[in-house]
Amino acid sequence: MSTTVTDAFRCRAARTPDAVALSAEQGSLSYAELDRWSDALAGELAEAGVLPGDRVAVCLERSPQLVVALLGVLKAGAAYVPIDPEDPGSRVSMMLADADVSLVIGQFFAGFTTLKVSPPAGRSTVELPAVAPEDLAYLMYTSGSTGKPKSVMIEHRNITNLVTGPNYVDVTPGDRILQLAPVAFDAATFEIWGALLNGARVVLAPPGVVQAEELGDLLRSNEISVLWLTAALFHRQIDVDVAAFKGLHTVMTGGDVVSVPHVRQLREAVPELQIVNGYGPTETTTFATCHRIGADEDLGGAVPIGTQLQNVEVVVVDAEGKPVEPGTPGELWIGGAQVARGYWKRPDLTDEKFVRGGWNGERYYRTGDQGRKRADGVVEFLGRIDDQFKLRGFRIEPGEVENALTEHPQVRTAAVSLRTHPSGDRRLIAWVVKSGEDLDKRVLKAHMRANMPEHMVPAGFVVVDELPITNNGKTDRKALPEPDWTSKSLYV
Ligand code: ADP
Repeated sequence: MSTTVTDAFRCRAARTPDAVALSAEQGSLSYAELDRWSDALAGELAEAGVLPGDRVAVCLERSPQLVVALLGVLKAGAAYVPIDPEDPGSRVSMMLADADVSLVIGQFFAGFTTLKVSPPAGRSTVELPAVAPEDLAYLMYTSGSTGKPKSVMIEHRNITNLVTGPNYVDVTPGDRILQLAPVAFDAATFEIWGALLNGARVVLAPPGVVQAEELGDLLRSNEISVLWLTAALFHRQIDVDVAAFKGLHTVMTGGDVVSVPHVRQLREAVPELQIVNGYGPTETTTFATCHRIGADEDLGGAVPIGTQLQNVEVVVVDAEGKPVEPGTPGELWIGGAQVARGYWKRPDLTDEKFVRGGWNGERYYRTGDQGRKRADGVVEFLGRIDDQFKLRGFRIEPGEVENALTEHPQVRTAAVSLRTHPSGDRRLIAWVVKSGEDLDKRVLKAHMRANMPEHMVPAGFVVVDELPITNNGKTDRKALPEPDWTSKSLYV
């Protein structure tokens, strides 16, 4: 039976009121305190005119206030829209307008009512609305191929399915999960609700970037037992300080292809550690499949993405949308309890990506990922069908970056792709065709900085006379010339 995040939390608070729910540099809150504090905030939101079904933006650094805000918004019957405080103002304004938010918690943005989170004066007397499992819990923006980000609508029941009695990780009230992922990305859903709905403690990492050199201390001093790191951070951590993982019982990684040599190295260095590969798009609520890597498992060439979560169904289909036999590659379609309601205000795109299975009439999200199901049900990831890619764990549609580039008057047309720098890093490169005589790369980079999140700002710019075209008339991103890494004019 599905339930709501708010009810599941209240149950936990009633059972263990004095257990620590969250801790951070600024202090900690027990379950009872977090319950009371978020009740008070929900009351304030209602008094400020927030109605059930509204959207409320949350734009806060990692802090106890952040968690109070998310829970308070849900208790008010509204959905939160997490905003990265580091994103450029123009992009934030676009998201706030697109989501039609009725209020912003945290930072001030012109044209919107702002609320700060402060400790409650007493018990709130405002009556809060009932919340249903099918109500919207959050809107999360992810890169859109046609130039604008799109927003995924996640319901309460999607989250509670992900974190209630999970079969991919052991979380009990004694556990401590680190909250490190940017809250605008859905790994934070697992970190926060995975802890709070299981009676465990969520430990908020200090605001800003945590360096690999610092992570070990942070994990040890907070006695963290469960950690999520995107594949890129996971690999770097193993390279820089593999001993940091000692003391954890589980590390979860994923969000991008996980490297076999790194897993091997970690397994040797910390044999008692459970390593889990988690796979899933935002549209199916953080993880659709997970793989607990066995201590002696022969990984061959790749780390499997594993088996479907409870009440989740992963089907491999062919180009006609028909399920294929085990062992045959095809597109991964994800159905079941974690499939999002769709894209906010984008009915056409929703119909295109969220489809009915011709064989059973059930609703599936077409991931655009290629995979293969082994006879034992374990899924292997085989890459993307389209041009979407990941950079440092961030999902990027090249079309969105290219659109922003061509909005600049000095650019006629542009293409972006990843290229590997001689140092081994993958970098985002832009190839641009000028619209006239002049192109000031510095100005172009500033334009991108002003409009795009950091991970979508190209690291290098190459001016070309024209873009290579494939036979079917699309930009041939693979045929773009290799950048001259030694040229100063590549970087601006
Ligand atoms: P998240 O980063 O939370 O996994 P996104 O929506 O940003 O979610 O990105 C989802 C895409 O990332 C997937 O469709 C897939 O292409 C890729 N991906 C996610 N997890 C893995 C994994 N464990 N292995 C390989 N690719 C992955």
